[in-house]
Parts: sequence; structure tokens; C-alpha cells
Amino acid sequence: MTKIQYNNVFIQNILNKSLIDKNIQFAILRLDKIHPIISGNKWFKLKYYIADAIEKKIDTIATFGGAYSNHIIATAYACKLNGLKSIGFIRGERNENISATLLQAEAYGMQLEFVSRQTFNHTSIIKEKMIDKNYYRIDEGGYGMNGAKGAAEIFEWIDETYTHIICACGTGTMIGGLIKAAKPHQTIIGISVLKGYDHLFEIKELLSKDEQQKKFLLFNEYHFGGYAKHPKQLIDFMIAIWNDHQLPTDIVYTSKLMYAAFDLAEKDFFPANSKVMVIHSGGLQGNNSLPANTLPF
Ligand SMILES: *Cc1c(COP(=O)(O)O)cnc(C)c1O
Repeated sequence: MTKIQYNNVFIQNILNKSLIDKNIQFAILRLDKIHPIISGNKWFKLKYYIADAIEKKIDTIATFGGAYSNHIIATAYACKLNGLKSIGFIRGERNENISATLLQAEAYGMQLEFVSRQTFNHTSIIKEKMIDKNYYRIDEGGYGMNGAKGAAEIFEWIDETYTHIICACGTGTMIGGLIKAAKPHQTIIGISVLKGYDHLFEIKELLSKDEQQKKFLLFNEYHFGGYAKHPKQLIDFMIAIWNDHQLPTDIVYTSKLMYAAFDLAEKDFFPANSKVMVIHSGGLQGNNSLPANTLPF
């Protein structure tokens, strides 16, 4: 299997007066630096699926996603790197939906099949379009045990001096992996980017009974109106943390995560002497859907 290099990943310490006054350390794990396209958590979540497909000698990966999906573009790229074919079942019609993300996925060789929003449903797509086909199926967002197993490897950068680890939650696969790898004294915090959605069930499905006893919790109030919604307040915050810390974030996941991390610190959620690792899970390509010059980075 062709591997992705992690050489560019680094830990960025964030200093500001409020954190210093409260005696809290904030470190950002810059997984966005892995690769401009297959960045952040996506390669971790895909690697064991890809390895499994290669081992089973299946030459085509099939998966699902929306028009701006980081998972779709990462799957397209990972398959290209590994000499596999890929098919993406995309929610919506082609015309209304041909985003920069999808064009890029297509350029990497992914075959796109558009399924109308009304009838988009994994089970029926599997029944109608995958039957008799020797596809290796990866669930939307890379959800599943192999995804969590790969995400657990993010802990390579997190030593036991960290008291809290905080990340964004889409399918809950990444946080599932982080919980698996965490030490008992560490608390894992998930920030949901979906409105009115409780990830607890999906996360628990990925954990053993013992792992379910570890310390983790979710916050559901930082979605800014829902998935991929980006009101002006959020854009202003993204510009501010770029100006203050040269920290680029994306509109779907990491801006909401950073906002939550600072807000929780402000509200004294973290006790004094906490050492917090914030996972920058990448996804910056999603900002390509914004009008030009919206962001300074
Ligand atoms: C996909 C993605 C997530 C969500 O990860 P899950 O494992 O689905 O919870 C978080 N951040 C970024 C940048 C992503 O692309």
C-alpha cells in the first residue's frame, strides 16, 4: 500500500492572555499539514479499508457523500495513489451539484454517480447499484471499525501529559478512535457539527464495553445553524484566529471546533493546569466553495 507521509505535521501552541490567566495550555495538532487534499483525519480513517481491499484483491472502492465531502475527495485520491478504481455515489443531481470538490475527485479518476436527494439512501443504492458488483464498500465518512482503528493512530502525537483532547464530530469515527487510544486520566471531547444530532449511539457502536467506560463527552451546541452553515459570525471568527495565530480553519469542522475550544475555556470548563490538544482535522479544501476573497488565507 502506498503510504502518506506525516513529515509536515506539527504542534502549534496557542498563547493568549485569557489562557495564560487561567493557566491553561492549548496545543493544536496540525493534521491539515499532511496533504492539501487528503488532509486531516481522512487518510487515517481510510488506510485500513484500502489495505483490506488490496488484501482481498478487490480493485474498486465504492462510497457515498455530498457535493463538498472531504471523504469523497480523499477516497478518490487514496485510490488513485494505490492503483484502485473508485466510485462515489453523490447526493443530488449533477447540474446543481458539480462542486470544485467533485471535479477534483473526478480528476483523480473517481466515477461519480448522482442519486437524487429524494431517493438517496445507502441501503437502496447498495441493493440497486452494487448487487453483482465486486465493490469494496466504505460507509459515508469512513464510518466503521477500520476507520476508528486508523483514527486511533492520531494518538501518536499525543503524550500522556495532555489532560483533554478535543475534536470535531461528523460521523463520530475519529472520536471513536481517539477514545480507544486514550489513557484513563484523559478526557476526549467531541464538538458536533450537525444540528440536532446525538452521536452517542454511533460512537458506542465502535467501542468495547471497557472503552465505553473511558472519559468522553459531546457538545451539540456549536453547529452554527447546521452542517456546513457559516454565518458571518463564524467567518469573522475564522479571520480573527488567522490574524491572531496564523491558524487556518475550514467552514464545516475546524472553525466550529476552535470556536468551541475557546468558548469552553472562557466558560472555565477546563480546570487550571489543563493541557488541551485540539485536533486540526484538515478539510481546508471545503473553503473553495466560498466566494473568492472571503478569507485571507
Ligand atoms: C470528516 C471530517 C471530520 C469528521 O470526522 P468523523 O470521523 O466523521 O467524525 C472532522 N474534521 C474534518 C476536517 C473532516 O474532514
